Amino acid sequence: MRRWFVLGLGLISAAPAAAQRPRPGEGREPEFPPPSIVEYRPRSTLVVPAHPVPRARYPVIDLHGHPPALVSADAIERVGAALDSLNIQVMVNVSGTSGDRLTAQIDGVRASRYRGRFVMFASLDLRNVGPGSGARIAAQLEADVQAGALGVGEIGKGFGLSIRKTDGSRLTLDDPELDPVWETAARLGIPVLIHVGDPAEFFEPLDYQNERWLELALFANRRYQDRSRFPSFEELMAERDRLLARHPRTTWVLAHMGWHANDLARLGRMLDSMPNLYTEVGAILYDLGRQPRAAREFFLKYQDRLLFGKDAFQPDEYPYYWRVFETFDEYFDYYRDYHAFWKLYGLGLPDSVLKKVYCQNALKLVPGIPKGAFPD
Ligand SMILES: [Zn+2]
Repeated sequence: MRRWFVLGLGLISAAPAAAQRPRPGEGREPEFPPPSIVEYRPRSTLVVPAHPVPRARYPVIDLHGHPPALVSADAIERVGAALDSLNIQVMVNVSGTSGDRLTAQIDGVRASRYRGRFVMFASLDLRNVGPGSGARIAAQLEADVQAGALGVGEIGKGFGLSIRKTDGSRLTLDDPELDPVWETAARLGIPVLIHVGDPAEFFEPLDYQNERWLELALFANRRYQDRSRFPSFEELMAERDRLLARHPRTTWVLAHMGWHANDLARLGRMLDSMPNLYTEVGAILYDLGRQPRAAREFFLKYQDRLLFGKDAFQPDEYPYYWRVFETFDEYFDYYRDYHAFWKLYGLGLPDSVLKKVYCQNALKLVPGIPKGAFPD
């Protein structure tokens, strides 16, 4: 025993030489064929308290809703029942509607017993932009707001990534042709929900260091490595930031926390420098849940700038959000393995912050949402 002790001290004092020596087990090959990334599903043996949250603690406004088209009574009933069970008081439908399709849904909801539980944002037709398009799109927006739309959105990721102008060039986010549209939104006092790009890893090489390898291998349409077709992630973000800065009177809501939930300091700098900027938490829960302490601090600091949004309408996925926001639970599953192969931890947000993120901030931004059922 004594000899081991002496040897141990010797290793510590001669650290540089020791670093050269192989560590125990280094270079060993598994005795059995290793499982693939899709096969390996270890059972966690961790035993800790678990507090699933099927219903949000306070009434929620989902600012980034994609329900099925709200035209038939049947669809409205089906989505409405899901909202009831989750404690979502209002869903903002941002599924790209304008003109007749918009008014059909507004009328459908008004005629149903879920009147007041759905509100509509208006989409913009950004295809084939050329001279004069800005004024035309702005006029349609004005008509849609007249018809009852309470905001703009969702502006999809095609804008900036792939949509082309009439001259064949890529429609950049900061194209001045669209200035009248953003200024119209500012004048009407309505927020603009904009989704720019996708996670930065989607623009990086598909190698074994890529955090989203599985997702990229599953979905060909999420691969943006081809620079002859797509801008780089940073090019896109620079265009976005120029757009936001050029329209300081417009209220912007960045969907998906601007894809900076993995770099909250960067998002914090944006919020610090642009008081007209808000952001929404849809589909990035895996990034918040893997840094619960930093994310909690961020939510406390920017509690007036964050909005709840979910994106894809999958009722059984919402409770993962409630659990991350409301509890201090540790090391629990996320709902989609190709977003994240890691586990989530709860942020345990205080009630005052939960209320702001769940509904109060959205009520301020979208004054037309019926106030009835919300806490003070
Ligand atoms: Zn969306």
